[in-house]
Amino acid sequence: MDTQNLMEKIVALCKRRGFIYPGSEIYGGLAGTWDYGPAGSLMKKNLKDLWWKEMVQVRDDVVGMDSAIMMNPKAWEASGHLEAFTDPLVECKICHQRFRQDKQAEIEEHERTHKDQKVEWTEAKQFNLLVKAYLGVVEGKQSEIFLRGEITNGVQVNFKNILDSTRVRIPFGVAQIGKAFRNEITPGNFTFRSREFEQMELQFYIKSDPEEGKKWFDYWKEERMNWYTSLGIKKENLRFKDHEKLSHYAKAATDIEYQTPWGWDELMGIHNRGDWDLKRHGEFSGQDLKYRDPFTGEEYLPWDIETSAGVDRSFLFFLIDAYTEEDGRVLLKLNPKLAPFRAAVFPLLANKPELVEKARKIYLDLKQNFMIAWDERGNIGKRYAAQDEVGTPYCITVDFQTLEDDTVTIRDRDSAKQERVKISDITSAIR
Ligand code: ATP
Repeated sequence: MDTQNLMEKIVALCKRRGFIYPGSEIYGGLAGTWDYGPAGSLMKKNLKDLWWKEMVQVRDDVVGMDSAIMMNPKAWEASGHLEAFTDPLVECKICHQRFRQDKQAEIEEHERTHKDQKVEWTEAKQFNLLVKAYLGVVEGKQSEIFLRGEITNGVQVNFKNILDSTRVRIPFGVAQIGKAFRNEITPGNFTFRSREFEQMELQFYIKSDPEEGKKWFDYWKEERMNWYTSLGIKKENLRFKDHEKLSHYAKAATDIEYQTPWGWDELMGIHNRGDWDLKRHGEFSGQDLKYRDPFTGEEYLPWDIETSAGVDRSFLFFLIDAYTEEDGRVLLKLNPKLAPFRAAVFPLLANKPELVEKARKIYLDLKQNFMIAWDERGNIGKRYAAQDEVGTPYCITVDFQTLEDDTVTIRDRDSAKQERVKISDITSAIR
């Protein structure tokens, strides 16, 4: 399948089946924003819940938090975002469209659109990505603030609060999921680069020691890679890519990249941030953010190993990886834990009240434990096809035999094979 074609198919499927719609579509849209529909919001929630379970619930060295999107602007000064959260912006002198100078492929593609004209570019200027907002109720005296450009700062400024209100000890982590905003120069590739998106991050605080730094950096690299493959992304579509040029805050940085239809591109990052954040927030706030070892009494600023993943990029790559065309079918081979619905329930015929009643009961019972879809329109083949495209792993059909022996058919999405199962065994079968 050619790659342009594949992305077009995925975008169309997302709209058709209620995964993702263009933001504010009836008003002509708003570049770089997307709305998750009924199926998409379910899958996104599953994705975040699975991440949270793995990162917080089953571990005893990580706590969670949920910090405000709006922060005192000093926090952004301290973290270096006011100065350095920039991308190099260049403008085409022919049509005045703006691009990121560091995205060579996009620059070349644009140059080709001008055919035989020679494109000249303006000098690159550093463009700050923070989105501004204004707070206050008196016109003219409102204060300028920033919507967070990443969710890290909300955790860093609460380091002391977390130490004082929980029993965590180094090494420990703080996990958070939430929205971030960036005035991206060129949003694009569907949700891959958006202006509003969600991140899921872990800040893992360790002893300020290079060996510890290396140990935990390597540990979290493997953990995050394994998470994606355990949920079904094909191993050959993922790789580590070390940063050649480190950000102002980093001592080491690696990305996990995904082989997208447009080439290898960043899924998430793992960074050794050293003591950059705590040091700067300590200096700018005048607060002592040092950690005191309860056993040795030693005081130091811990280092932070960060894992930072985009919820939307993870979502998109799970979708792309699951997209399959097989035997005339289009299906999403999503891991059942990620799929919007665990199962769908159908009465074989919509005009037979005894079938509908029986199916309705099964549907409502299963809904107590799983997200379950209901469909009684059209013929059964069309219903299967619709569920395949949403990635529903199991379709349960109530037919005439059900009325006799209390069994139903369960159809498996990937093999399209059916099996007869007792109604009382459905829950364990789909679990
Ligand atoms: P890129 O170079 O692709 O713009 P980045 O290196 O600036 O990304 P980070 O600041 O490391 O990204 O952000 C961590 C993660 O947040 C990224 O790996 C990505 O998954 C997600 N992310 C960052 N920017 C965006 C965006 N504009 N849209 C969607 N997800 C994003």
